[in-house]
Amino acid sequence: MGKLHVFILFFLMITLADCVVAENCQGYDAVPVVPGKYPEGLLIDNGVALATIVVPKDASFAEDYAAKDLQKVLYKMTGVALPIANDCNELNGNRILIGSTQQTDSVVSPTERANLGKEDYLARLSGRDIVLVGGGYYGTIYACAEIYELLGARWYMSGELGECIPKLDTVRINNLDVRRSPSFKMRWIGGNLNWSMRNRLNCVQNNPEMPPAFTIKPVQQIWDDGYIGLFHTQQDLLPDEQYFANHPEYYALVDGKRSTNINLRKLCNSNPAVAIEVAKNLAKLVRENPNIDLLNFSPTDGWEHCECEQCRKLDEPNVPQDRRYSRRQMILYNRVAEELEKQFPDQKILIGAYHIYAWPPKDTSVKAHKNLAVVICHYEDYCLAHPTNDPSCPPNKRYLELIRQWQKHTSNIFLYEYYAKGNWRGLPWPIVHTIEKDIPFYHSINIAGLYTQWDFSGLIWGNFLDGYVAAKLLWDHTADVQEILDEFYKKFYGRAAVPMRRWHETLEKQLANCGVHMPGNAPRNAHYIFTEKVMKNLKQCIKKAVSLANDDIVKRRLERMAALTEYTDKLANVFRLRKQAVKLEGQEKIKALEKAIHIFEELQRDVDKNPGHYEGISSHITMHTRSMQRMVDQMKKYLVGKQLEQKKDSLLADEEID
Ligand SMILES: [Zn+2]
Ligand SMILES: [Zn+2]
Repeated sequence: MGKLHVFILFFLMITLADCVVAENCQGYDAVPVVPGKYPEGLLIDNGVALATIVVPKDASFAEDYAAKDLQKVLYKMTGVALPIANDCNELNGNRILIGSTQQTDSVVSPTERANLGKEDYLARLSGRDIVLVGGGYYGTIYACAEIYELLGARWYMSGELGECIPKLDTVRINNLDVRRSPSFKMRWIGGNLNWSMRNRLNCVQNNPEMPPAFTIKPVQQIWDDGYIGLFHTQQDLLPDEQYFANHPEYYALVDGKRSTNINLRKLCNSNPAVAIEVAKNLAKLVRENPNIDLLNFSPTDGWEHCECEQCRKLDEPNVPQDRRYSRRQMILYNRVAEELEKQFPDQKILIGAYHIYAWPPKDTSVKAHKNLAVVICHYEDYCLAHPTNDPSCPPNKRYLELIRQWQKHTSNIFLYEYYAKGNWRGLPWPIVHTIEKDIPFYHSINIAGLYTQWDFSGLIWGNFLDGYVAAKLLWDHTADVQEILDEFYKKFYGRAAVPMRRWHETLEKQLANCGVHMPGNAPRNAHYIFTEKVMKNLKQCIKKAVSLANDDIVKRRLERMAALTEYTDKLANVFRLRKQAVKLEGQEKIKALEKAIHIFEELQRDVDKNPGHYEGISSHITMHTRSMQRMVDQMKKYLVGKQLEQKKDSLLADEEID
């Protein structure tokens, strides 16, 4: 009897018994396990399925997701699809019990399960069963990730090229009995569901059927590609269309008028009605989302703070720029917290510390309300070349002091990181050496969670390793990063591991040792890292790697890395020439500028013409941002003599941050 017939017969039998084999994922041709007693933990033996994936009859979305993902990953590993069945079936062979099946309690006692936190999980082998069960919605999915980890499967970035799944004929799990919990309660890197789940992250916002394990409302939807931000949520809480016509006084007074610029303008902090309305809308969110972890209230980006007399009176005189509006901001945050507390006494509200309200107010009488949690931005004034607790890095010494200051106000501190920098223009961002030190340190000072900007417009190749290492450490701050990296080079680059390790390490070392404190901003700072010597080394690494690679997928990864190297070489050359031009005079200056403009415009045209070649590396948007265009315009103005009378360094005017 063929496989299909066996399947149909089995399907009919159990349908009659009112217990349906769950639908097979991706139409895999799974057959029921043949009766027999199989060795403990043996799931697939020489291409034959010996185990069934078992889900509860009324499986939740998460249990269903976990079962199908496990089936899919094991299929990719072995070419064998394990059957998925409901827990009311009599099943042959070994079983993988997903979540709350009828059989789970025989392996894990109800007391043990009751002690699991919502993201904790147990993975246990006992006799014919492997139990994969979480304390809540997501723990069961993470328990499957435990199996992937054990079997050597890794996802270094989302998409096919990030996937490293070993090819096996036999799958056997030995001596499995673990209980795990995450090191941080918020772990948020990007929005890809599969990638996040397999790396045990918890703030994925893009699946309506599965709310995030750590729920924050509202979040900010930015850009067309669905990138989701943690900050600047004010507009969602007091939307213009609902309030402006009747209450223009809720919004910032700018140049004598109540501003309608919804992307920039802030609220009128001194107006007590603003706090009442914001709290009312936050309360609505709590009622709609009873399991919410954090409400989220922070101002829009940029300027346009209220200029009304009452707001000005809330500000402190003679304070540095980065606490200029801290006092007025805290007063509004506190009023909102006091209002909400009347209905929800313990509900935490996440507030923002950033830009000109980064520090708590100098006025120590203005303390944060007990229900406020804060997210602090590791922003432009700080450094990612060196760890936060590196005392020899003055910007980060100050950043650590900023965290310490906030710790006097709240024990609920979250960090907003830049493990991908928008203004780094897709260039390699070699900060693994910083992340390796930072995340365990953050754990030691009780930071509650971390969000990072990630994968802007899909520009992943320059920063994917940062996100991967961060994901590992956020789950387990004791993870051995050197081990993670040893494994990464081997799995991801195969025979090309040695030269590609040199590629990554060259950049990591250069950033750590180039003598600058690095906040990002490619036009201003990229030349410190991508020197002519460094670029020559990188190109040699790529050449050597390409000559060694024999595996098709490794070749495709190297193609991306080669394209990234070539793009970096060209763009860094533009930035270097521009810096050199400042020090040159006469014809030499003109030549350097002409060359920089020529290379830049050629690259711009090439990115527009060949988007496929630059996929994941650069894009039309990246090459046409206002600040990039402004940089070229400045150089052109020099050449036509419009700015010859100006100071030399006006060529290097600060770049806009975008
Ligand atoms: Zn005002
Ligand atoms: Zn530094």
